[in-house]
Amino acid sequence: MAVSDTEMVNAWTKVLKLSKLQEGQSVAILTDPSTNLQTLATAISASQGLGAIVTRIDLPAVNGGKSLSRDSSSYVGTTSLSGNHSALAALKACDLVLDLMLLLFSPEQEEILRGGTKILLAVEPPEILVRLIPTLEDREAVLIAADKLAAAKTMRVKSAAGTDIIFPLGSYPLLKEYGFVDEPGRWDHWPSGFVATWPTDRTAQGTIVLDSGDIWTPRKTYINTPIKLTVREGYVTSIEGGLDADLLKDYMEYFNDPDAYAISHVGWGLQKRARWSVLGLYNRESTLGMDARSFAGNFLFSLGPNNEVGGSNNSACHIDIPMRNCTVTLDGVDVVQKGCLTGDGASKTLN
Ligand code: FE
Repeated sequence: MAVSDTEMVNAWTKVLKLSKLQEGQSVAILTDPSTNLQTLATAISASQGLGAIVTRIDLPAVNGGKSLSRDSSSYVGTTSLSGNHSALAALKACDLVLDLMLLLFSPEQEEILRGGTKILLAVEPPEILVRLIPTLEDREAVLIAADKLAAAKTMRVKSAAGTDIIFPLGSYPLLKEYGFVDEPGRWDHWPSGFVATWPTDRTAQGTIVLDSGDIWTPRKTYINTPIKLTVREGYVTSIEGGLDADLLKDYMEYFNDPDAYAISHVGWGLQKRARWSVLGLYNRESTLGMDARSFAGNFLFSLGPNNEVGGSNNSACHIDIPMRNCTVTLDGVDVVQKGCLTGDGASKTLN
């Protein structure tokens, strides 16, 4: 269902104020042929309304001929900024980049952030952006959860479906996604609401059973038949099950890349306004699936690259997997019990 331009301008204005955009600061709006034109027009209006100097940088499409999916997060690493020194210089000169195309996992993104420029990704459809406008309470809940994750040496995840896996932690920084960029050099994604980190390379060990109703992106439909993933020394070594397992195996084999099977980020969802059921209501090509990645009490893990936090895995294959009904335990203390947030996480969850 459409939302009005006024609603979108108001939404952008809230997000830009949370991101501490000041009068006279420079905003670059990064676009490509996939950019939603209402999101673009209203981002320009809201930025100008707050007194910012706005530049649009429109880049050509890349990777479409290599990706098996139309999802812009399905083939990562190389972007239309790769080798584009003039566009990169312009972006680095800005205070804030609004990424309406998806620069995820690119060395160019890291270079822009290192200079102190903020980047806010926003590629979900306008009505999802409006429904999931971030708040200061979102930030508080994410930071409380992040403190627990930062202190943990080990994450263990179990489920009645058969998941039992241990992730040794401590080698990598945290991903704290609350939907706005209030510090120099910060990257975030509107909408979101989760925390994650990366297990120490080659240490994750155990079994993950994706159950009915779980999701893997970019396929973005609910799994019907369980998929058993055996994980040894940080890598998925076997994928077993019925049709759903075969679909995942075939998709991953296309990349012909052993690093596609590495365990990447692991964490849990905190956003109560995000709904597990939304993915069943949308054409899978029209959404990135941020409801699925963010809904409160999910266990979200990823396969593929970890280069955005300094790791050596540059795989182009990026698969995010939100699961329901898992228990997530940090050093023996549950933060999620059977898919529900616990303790401080429950009392401070996003509303
Ligand atoms: Fe991911």
